[in-house]
Amino acid sequence: MTDRYAVVGNPVAHSLSPEIHAAFARQTGQDIAYTRVLAPLDEFARTVETFRASGGKGLNVTVPFKGEAFRLATERTDRALAAEAVNTLRFDDGRVHGDTTDGPGLVRDIVDNLAVPLAGKRVLLVGAGGAARGVIQALLDTGIEALVLANRTVARARELADRFGSEVEPRGFDALGDAGFDVVVNATSASLSGEAPPLAPGVFAPGSLAYDMMYGKGETPFLVAARAAGAAQLTDGLGMLVEQAAESFLVWRGVRPQTAPVLAMLRGTE
Ligand code: NDP
Repeated sequence: MTDRYAVVGNPVAHSLSPEIHAAFARQTGQDIAYTRVLAPLDEFARTVETFRASGGKGLNVTVPFKGEAFRLATERTDRALAAEAVNTLRFDDGRVHGDTTDGPGLVRDIVDNLAVPLAGKRVLLVGAGGAARGVIQALLDTGIEALVLANRTVARARELADRFGSEVEPRGFDALGDAGFDVVVNATSASLSGEAPPLAPGVFAPGSLAYDMMYGKGETPFLVAARAAGAAQLTDGLGMLVEQAAESFLVWRGVRPQTAPVLAMLRGTE
């Protein structure tokens, strides 16, 4: 029997996850079906329960439900506990297993796909919302030299950084100076409104990687600004999306799919 999975969110129509998981299934010979489920904003738990009760095996969870999914899970991985967010649910005999694969997805994309080692690097993470929270522990685990967290609302950066002790240093945008970071990750939603976070050009060290978690058509405002500031390598978040999906596939199926051909397919280079 075909095992059923889905991505649940609101909105969810734009999600590329069904295409990605269909490609993983073809590649690995796994018999799964993967669809999109739109949950009403106040009916996430009921939507999950309906899917589970009808025989569904697992769900990816996207905006705005990752916090609710964390609370709904009956058991959580350490990385989900660190992020206080869940993007992957697996239903096992009445138990609801919650995991988050966003952090490992970002790190794999940077280290493996872009061939940028993170150990010993100075990293600037911009934003203090759910996306930033979900990747901090995974970044710290790579052995980076420093992690600075900058956010428009500085109090939010402080609050988030505090959860990780002295390992994360919170700052406002105007307190970054010309600090020169090796890797600058944009985890804000500023691109959605056609804006870039106001970063001084000096935050991009010579040879730096500028990484925007956003993806879509063309270069985001953050990447345009990073290019003008002299960042050596620029990328959007499509690789992270594919890598987090591969990690979810592993959680559900026990098989890690190859990501390069799927990323190439999505980028239209195949
Ligand atoms: P949240 O709403 O939780 O947080 C938004 C963040 O963006 C806050 O830090 C907010 O700052 C900041 N922000 C918004 N507008 C601006 C602006 N104009 N200038 C500066 N800062 C701004 O969103 P999420 O954290 O959930 O998502 C952020 C982005 O990450 C989304 O665009 C999402 O698509 C992307 N993402 C990509 C993934 C991938 O797989 N590639 C996975 C997860 C997320 P403040 O606190 O001051 O309001």
